[in-house]
Formats: sequence, C-alpha cells, structure tokens
Amino acid sequence: MAYSKKHKDRKFRKLRKNHVWGTIVFCIIMAIVSDVFISVFASFFITYIFDSKAADEYEAVSYMARMYDMSDAEKDGNVYSMLNEDGRTYFITDDDGNIIYQNGENTIGTTNGFLEISVFSRNYRGVDQEKVRVYMDNLTEGIFVPDEQENLEIDFPSLLRLIRFIDNKNNLDQTVKKTSVEIPVWIAINVKDGKQTFFGKAGFSFSLYDVLLIMGFIAAGIALVVIIILLMLVSMISSLRGQKRMVTALFSDPITRAHNWLWFTYKGEQILKKKRSLKTEYAVIDLVFVKYRNYCVCHSVSEGSEMLCRVDKILRNNIDNKELAAHYASANFALLLKFSDREELQKRLEKIISQLEQIDSDHKFTFHLGVYVVDKPKDKNGKTVKRKDVDMEIEYNNACTARSTLVDNDNSGIAFFDEELIEEQKWIDKVMENYSKAIENEEFIVYYQPKYDPKTDELRGVEALIRWDSPEFGFKSPGTFIPILEKNGLIPEIDHYMITHVSRDQKAWLDAGLKCVPASVNVSRAHFIEKDLALQIREAVDDEGAPHELIEIEVTESAFFDDKKVMIDTIRQLKEFGFQVSMDDFGSGYSSLNSLKDMPLDVLKLDAEFFRGDLNDDRGEIVVSEAIKLAKNLKMLTVAEGVEEKEQVEFLAKQGCDMIQGYFYARPMPKDEFAQRMTKTE
Ligand code: C2E
Ligand code: CA
Ligand code: CA
Repeated sequence: MAYSKKHKDRKFRKLRKNHVWGTIVFCIIMAIVSDVFISVFASFFITYIFDSKAADEYEAVSYMARMYDMSDAEKDGNVYSMLNEDGRTYFITDDDGNIIYQNGENTIGTTNGFLEISVFSRNYRGVDQEKVRVYMDNLTEGIFVPDEQENLEIDFPSLLRLIRFIDNKNNLDQTVKKTSVEIPVWIAINVKDGKQTFFGKAGFSFSLYDVLLIMGFIAAGIALVVIIILLMLVSMISSLRGQKRMVTALFSDPITRAHNWLWFTYKGEQILKKKRSLKTEYAVIDLVFVKYRNYCVCHSVSEGSEMLCRVDKILRNNIDNKELAAHYASANFALLLKFSDREELQKRLEKIISQLEQIDSDHKFTFHLGVYVVDKPKDKNGKTVKRKDVDMEIEYNNACTARSTLVDNDNSGIAFFDEELIEEQKWIDKVMENYSKAIENEEFIVYYQPKYDPKTDELRGVEALIRWDSPEFGFKSPGTFIPILEKNGLIPEIDHYMITHVSRDQKAWLDAGLKCVPASVNVSRAHFIEKDLALQIREAVDDEGAPHELIEIEVTESAFFDDKKVMIDTIRQLKEFGFQVSMDDFGSGYSSLNSLKDMPLDVLKLDAEFFRGDLNDDRGEIVVSEAIKLAKNLKMLTVAEGVEEKEQVEFLAKQGCDMIQGYFYARPMPKDEFAQRMTKTE
C-alpha cells in the first residue's frame, strides 16, 4: 500500500477540518482590520463633531460648574444669581440624584447609568480624571471626554466673556436657523468632590453640511461593512469551491471516474468507527475481475477500462447509502457491505456475481470475491462498543487473503476469511524472512528417494528432495515452503543449492568407490524461463566435479506451457552438456502429449495420481500401459511415481516400466542411509 498509516491519518485529519480554517482566519483578520478602521474613523469623526460643535458649549457649562464648585453655595447664595445671569438652563443634584437647585427647564429623563463612547485614539491626560457626562436630552446618554488642549483654568471674567460670546453665538445662530438644527444636550460635571453634579444645558447646532457629513460617514461605514462582507463571502465561496474540487480529485478514480481507494478507506473508517447494533455486521470485500488481463490482451486496454467502469457501475447499483464500493487498482474492487446473517450476504454476493458475469454477452467472465467480516468490539456485558482504531488496509488485506485462496480461474467464487489464513500469512512472512539465512547456514538438507527396476529390484536412479531442518521451526517438508519461494521468485537460489549439494554428494560417493546412479534434481518451472539456465547448471555441477551423466533435471509438466521456445532451447543445451532431462508429473493437470512431441526428453515420470485409484481399474491400466508404450516409442525411459502396492509394481513390471519410485521400495531418506543402499546393490 502506498501510504503509511501515519501519513494517511494526517491527510484525513486535514480533510476532516474541511479546509475552512483559511477562510475563518481570513474573516477574523478582516473583522479586526475593519473594526480598527471603523473605530479609528469613528473616533476621529466623533472628536471632530464634538470639537467643532461642543467645545464652546462644554466650556460654557464647565465654567459655570467650576464657578459653582469654587463657591460655598450653601452660604453664598450669590453664586446662583451669577449663574442665573447667564440665562442658561441648568440644575444641580446631590449624590442621590435629588435636585438641590435648578434654573430653567429640566429636560433630563434619567440619570441612572451612562454609556461610554470610546474615543480611544486620542490622549486625554489633560482632563484630570474629571468625569464628564453628556446627556443627549433624555434620548441618548454617554460620557464626553474633552480634548486635552482645553484649558479649564479660566477665571470668572473670562467666563462672563464666554457667556456673552455664547449669547452672541446664539444670536448669530438665529440668523442661520433655516440651515441648521439645534440639538439640546445636557452636560454633566461632577462638583463638590463628586458629592454633587452640575448639569448645564448646551445647544449643538448642526448645519446641512454637518448632516451631509454624518450621512456620508454612515454611508461610508455601511459601504465598508458591505465590502468586507462581500470580500469574506467571495473568499469563502472560492475556498469552498477549491476544497470541493480538491476533494473530488483526491477521491475519484482515474479509470472508473467514480470513487477510489482513498475515498473507500476514508468513508469506510468513518462507518466502522460508529457504534452499531448487535445485529448489524459489516464485511469488507475484495472483488477481482479474474480474466481482466486476458481481456485487455485480446481486446485493448481502453476496452478493458470500459469493462472496469461497467463493473464499478453494477457494484454501485447494488449498494445502499450506508455501504461503499470503489475501484482499488488494476482489476480489484473494494466493497463494504452491511448484513445481518452470512447466508443472506452469500446470496447477495452470488446475485452480484451473476449480474457481473452477464456484463458482456460475448464473453464468460469470472469474478473472485474474498470476504472479511469486520470485528465488532463488545464490552464486558456483551454490548457493542465504538471501535477506536480502524485500519481499512488491514481489513481489506484480510479480504484479499481470503480471495487469494480461490484458484479456479474458470469459475467465479466466494471465499470467507478465517483465522487459519492469518496463520498461513504469518508462516509466509517467516519463510520470506528466514530463507536466505537458512541457505547460508545450510539448514536445507537433501533427502534421496531411490528408483528401482521393478523386474530386478535393482537400484537404477534416485530423486533428490529438499527438506528444511530449521532450528526455529523444526523439520519442514518442501510443500510448506517451496510454493512460497516459487511464488516470490526466490526459487533459483534453492535450485542452485540443490544442484550443488547433489553434485557434491555424487562426487563424494564416486570418490568413495560407490556405484552411483543418476540423481534427479527438481528445477522449478519458475526458474526455467532463464535463458542461461543450462549454463548455470553446468557451472554448478562442474564446480563440484560431478560427471554430467549422473545428474538429471526434472521439469514439471506445466512448465512446458510457459515459454516453449526457451524451454526447448534449454533442454537441448542440457542434453548437449550430457545431462538427462525428465518430465515430472506427467499426466497431472493439462495434457502434455504435444510437449512430448517437441521436447527431446530422456525420462517420463508418470504422476503418482495414476496409482492412487482402484488397482483393478481397467481404464487406468490402459492409460498407464499406453503411456509407457508411448514413452518407449519416443525412446524415453519411464519412472512410475508414488507406487505403494505390490500389485502395482507387478503390473508396471509387466508393462515394461523402467523404474519405480515410491513408498513400496523406499521413502525419501537422508544421504547416508541412501549411500548404504548403493553399497548393498553393488
Ligand atoms: P515431486 O517432485 O513430485 O516429488 C515426489 C513427491 O512424492 C515427494 O514429496 C515424495 O516424498 C512423494 N512420494 C514419493 N513416493 C511416494 C509414495 O509412494 N506415496 C506418497 N504418498 N508420496 C510419495 P516431497 O518430498 O514432499 O516433495 C514434494 C514436492 O516438492 C516435489 O514433488 C517437488 O515438486 C517439490 N520439491 C521437492 N524438493 C524440491 C527441490 O529441491 N526443488 C524444487 N524446486 N522442488 C522440490
Ligand atoms: Ca520431482
Ligand atoms: Ca513428481
């Protein structure tokens, strides 16, 4: 699998975040920027308004307040007459808000609480922490903080001048009444150490220009907010679109244009992590289009891809919205199906197979399905619990392992995973890990199974058979490791090892004065495709100094189907070098009569299967006797393998079979035991 778990998890975590973080960060930054911008703008604007409109009014009221503050009002009632002279409406309250003196109209509705207008961009140190509150009649209220440049230290004459100025200004304002609006505002100033509050009424006049300015400001503010919202929306939409495009590309299969493996693992893990009822089971399925490669070779890759699209479509049509189907790779598809009992699942899969088999009326396609029923973790009370860790790759691998047990490529099939398969897989891993060390440590040993002449009971030959005497795993027969090494392309090393050891033994026995017989060595068909195989064999035998005529090479029948030309060339070369070549397992699997015609072979080994059935079976006897005759006509020797019964030996002797290799005479044995048999036959 291309992704490590860690890498994949990181990728999925990123996907789960839905990629909106960029947009959210952008929005937050935009909001902060606009906030700062609006605040700064507003502060300047408000300051401007109050500077231009309220400064004088504020000064007037604050001088009155100061005048009152400096007087001893209780004793000196004159201060009221002085203040009243100004004609300004004002009043004074105590701590509790009770009016202790008033002049003119009191238009304040409430004095409870006040709202701060933040004008933070300016520095107001000059105010001396004097709390000044501005009441916009009884409509709006807030704190008005005066400009630091304001000089509050003004004496009474200046105050009176100022009051006159205000009067004049008021008069002046009268003349422009038509174009301005007078807004009465109450200014509150703490006096008598904060025990009383002096409220003076001020009038702000707003001209048309001011109104336009305010409206302009509001419009600009609204425009700014609208622009920011639009920008945020555009950014969000484009990021969502980009995200959608990215997710689509990431999750779609290049061949089927539907979902891919990554999508399957992402969605599958989400589904399997959810808690489900005791009845609901899930199965991960590996489905293989068995003859896909053949189809591509016979037609074209694009027609093959078209077939995969059709398979994908059928699979998608067969699932509900809580199930998944995706193309894995090559001709493999992954499915996640829900079910409540296995029989029902089996039937459903059979139905899917029958739909798939009819995908093209001109061809008979076959499909192999491996099914892995996903574990459902339970608590102590037998209730299902959420699965914390799900790895779809492991689940799918188990389905693949089950599928790989199906070997009949001509028929569709379904295989369920069981624990034994895991053990098998573990054994495969062990073989792969240990075989080269085993070669190095000479853990592989050669067993010899003699071949006897059934007429004379004379030793005529021997077959070398490998065994693995592993200190870790014990004594292993070839069936447990040869197919694994064969499948993984590691067999040439074993074949070379055997040829070397058999040659070494033959040379040693010759040197010991024993009458040696040809020893046959199995060369795997997987090895037979190598063009210089004959040369390799000759070199190995020569290195050990064994005569070529004492070495025979056994090739299995099915090897003849791989690459005929290379095979014929290799056999010819081996014969030229003086080796004998035999066809192993003749009669098993496919018919090899045709191969016999083309291959210049020396020995024909009749497969043990011939001798497994009923001895008195006439038809079996006919086949065996005809095969022996055929070999004789082709000037080949015959060896009957797997012969266990006396009657079989007698029958074969009568038919002219040259040698018998079977338990009747001997089982495969260690080399020293075999060497004793050679001595005896001398
Ligand atoms: P094979 O080449 O057909 O070897 C004959 C097998 O039949 C041997 O099994 C042998 O022990 C068994 N046999 C012989 N006589 C009888 C009998 O009378 N009754 C029964 N029931 N069995 C009999 P073995 O040694 O387990 O080998 C199994 C297979 O492993 C061999 O089949 C061969 O295909 C492969 N093999 C063994 N050694 C090597 C090797 O060195 N290289 C390669 N490439 N394959 C090997
Ligand atoms: Ca053999
Ligand atoms: Ca055989």
